[in-house]
Amino acid sequence: MPAKTVNDIVALCKRRGFIFTGSEIYGGLGGAYDYGPYGVELMKNIRNAWWNAMIYSRNDIEGLDAALISNRLLWKYSGHEGCFSDPLVECKKCGARMRQDKMKDPTKCDNCGSTEITAPREYQLMMGLSIGAIADGEINAYLRPETATTTYVNFKNVLDAKPHKLPFGIAQIGKAFRNEISPRGFVFRMREFEQAEMQYFINPKDDEKYYEYWKATRLGWWVNVLGIPQEKLRFLPHVKLAHYAKAAVDIEYAFPDGFDEVEGVHNRQDFDLGSHTKDQDSFKLSAKVLDNKDSTTKLSYSDAQTGENFIPYVIETAMGVNRAMLAVMIEAYNEEDLGEGKSRIVLKLKPWLSPVKAAVIPLVRNVPELVDLSNQIVEDLRKLNIGRIELENSGNIGKNYRRHDEIGTPVCITVDHQTLEDGTVTLRHRDTMEQERIKTTDVVKKVLEIINQ
Ligand code: ATP
Repeated sequence: MPAKTVNDIVALCKRRGFIFTGSEIYGGLGGAYDYGPYGVELMKNIRNAWWNAMIYSRNDIEGLDAALISNRLLWKYSGHEGCFSDPLVECKKCGARMRQDKMKDPTKCDNCGSTEITAPREYQLMMGLSIGAIADGEINAYLRPETATTTYVNFKNVLDAKPHKLPFGIAQIGKAFRNEISPRGFVFRMREFEQAEMQYFINPKDDEKYYEYWKATRLGWWVNVLGIPQEKLRFLPHVKLAHYAKAAVDIEYAFPDGFDEVEGVHNRQDFDLGSHTKDQDSFKLSAKVLDNKDSTTKLSYSDAQTGENFIPYVIETAMGVNRAMLAVMIEAYNEEDLGEGKSRIVLKLKPWLSPVKAAVIPLVRNVPELVDLSNQIVEDLRKLNIGRIELENSGNIGKNYRRHDEIGTPVCITVDHQTLEDGTVTLRHRDTMEQERIKTTDVVKKVLEIINQ
């Protein structure tokens, strides 16, 4: 059974080194978390799965890694500087601050139920920077609040370097920063987080087809690649659309506290390239954009067949990597009753997602023959290049199994005195706790089979 509360995951994350509170020894900083030894591995595996699906398995999407700090003008013309703000209200009774658009009932405090709520105030969600030799405090750059805009302004660079016909996409994974009013839900809403976003550039006449295509493709990825059960996911179409959007939908996951967004799919029309292009007046734009006299580059596409030159539409897929990891951990979390008052916590991750792929354990610690042989197995497994392989030389087999169950290691290989006599080791399976005796020479093949399940 998956985790019943997010607190189960918070405790596991801290105990086993997945996620720590940022700046913890100084009391923390709201909305910032540090990823520990196993968290970085799980995040990397999720990122790789996304990159594999979005880039390596296709011919039509290119990768990009743009800077986190960017020229103010990017965010002026994207519309973020002027209006990337959420209406903020405050409860006069308990002092809780809330985003009005996220309140259960906008007339009542989410925290104490009081109806004494202040009028909404606008709030700047971007983090401004003052950079350069003379940092006089004036904001002249921003930390990006999304990867998307830094992709749009590279549209021409990418297309010149790697010509494509429409449709084609540009994908990015990277950090985004938002001055969120009330970070909450552990890593669900942070001030620094990671996005995996793809912008698919299309001929406007194909927008509905590709919007539906990407909705289905992305939902399929959550189910088939990450292994989230279909019934724990749903689409929530936006009723109130952003001014530039023609259609938008959230992919929601059933978190312990209810369904909430993990990814968005948006038809952004020609708003983005239209906002940042030079010579806006020479194009017939569908979206309303700010008048831009600063851009130095036309962000249009020339169709060689029809001779048409136009601003493509964008279908965007925007996933939060931290939320994906949280959902994966909630699904994988199991608390099992082993009888006789004993229980265990086990993360039943898909083996390829596991932070540690296999652990090799000498039954008795510091016995040179056992440790040497264990090291040899570790070296052989490392040659597979499948991720992290750990040697556990602590001599407490019960503790080792418990730790590896909790971090989701699919197999443990135990080397004991019998190994020295008959060349066999114990292979212990995480999910069933079954143990089998196999030949040392079969370990590599067997582990590979398990990881590729
Ligand atoms: P929300 O409505 O939850 O504020 P959003 O609609 O503003 O999110 P997008 O701008 O579409 O989010 O970003 C894409 C994805 O990035 C979201 O689906 C979510 O998974 C993730 N995300 C957005 N804001 C945060 C945050 N503050 N902390 C962690 N992940 C986030």
